[in-house]
Amino acid sequence: MNSALTVNDGIEQPPMVNPHVDGLFEKRRQPLPAVAEYVRGIREGNITMLSRAITLIESRRPDHQPMAQKVLAACRPFSGNSIRLGITGVPGAGKSTFIEAFGGMITARNHRLAVLAIDPGSERSKGSILGDKTRMETLSADPRAFIRPSPGTGSLGGVARKTYETVILCEAAGFDYIFIETIGVGQSEIAVHSMTDFFLLLMISGAGDELQGIKRGVMEMSDLLLINKADGSNMEKAIQAQAQYQSALHLFPAPPSGWTPHALTCSALDKTGLEDVLQEIGNYVTLTKANGYFEQRRREQARYRMYETINENLQNTFYNNPTVEAKLADLEQQVANGELNPYDAAAQLLALKSD
Ligand code: GDP
Repeated sequence: MNSALTVNDGIEQPPMVNPHVDGLFEKRRQPLPAVAEYVRGIREGNITMLSRAITLIESRRPDHQPMAQKVLAACRPFSGNSIRLGITGVPGAGKSTFIEAFGGMITARNHRLAVLAIDPGSERSKGSILGDKTRMETLSADPRAFIRPSPGTGSLGGVARKTYETVILCEAAGFDYIFIETIGVGQSEIAVHSMTDFFLLLMISGAGDELQGIKRGVMEMSDLLLINKADGSNMEKAIQAQAQYQSALHLFPAPPSGWTPHALTCSALDKTGLEDVLQEIGNYVTLTKANGYFEQRRREQARYRMYETINENLQNTFYNNPTVEAKLADLEQQVANGELNPYDAAAQLLALKSD
């Protein structure tokens, strides 16, 4: 009983394997492939290589960036041949259920689908909504689908750029449908809109004012309003909502695409109304490719991205300047205390040069 070999209950045992050993292996394991190897793998549709290239792009290590940019540059000529679909809607609208059902319909038609997300630092990335494979169980197991969670926290600009670069890699890997999802809060819809061909707003019918809770701007930039959960006892409400949204759409100025956005209903759960959604997207693509808007929108997006990149760089250069870093907190405090006016503080900081 009192043997020295007895292990008392309640004493935590050390792990059998040194927990640090994993990290050691991690460093030694798998040197980064060469640029040509990444590109070959991606072009062959090798999902492991695609995932590793995306990880490279998402890497915060500055020494990974030149390589990431080379991979991107080599993939760019093979990009552009997909339909990029933006999907937004408030949490609970049924986005993941819809993507699972609609995505399954697309892959069943022999298309290859990549599902990405823009979700900078919200509670959803912490819960790894898209990372959570149970969220889109069937699609996750579908060999024609590739699901990649949001690059996670960071500035919206940074997350958006990485997501766009992931689009390029996925297209070079042969994915011909790309879904980019975001939740219906904040500025992320604009980021998604700036990199997609077709923007779908998923909605649910609610009690009271149907137009409440959805920002007018988001509705205005949508190419399709889709009222989900049109099933069971909710059917009638959904049809009423559809009529209300349809008339609300008439109040918006005609979009430059020449396209008339519609309000439709569907049930992601029962998989009804989804054929109409695909038809709607098809009609949009046919129309805008014929009238030139499809290309024009992509060119405008490229212009937008140029300015985004400049702004991001200017901000980084400014905030990463050690002289600015050293002074910022102090001046901020002075402004907060009312000792210094914000304009003078900003002017002082902007005038700083790194020496
Ligand atoms: P998300 O937050 O927008 O991704 O929404 P989810 O896809 O997680 O769905 C939220 C809830 O709505 C879940 O309980 C779903 O089962 C339910 N839901 C999604 N689509 C439908 C639908 O078409 N009909 C019904 N009745 N429920 C749905």
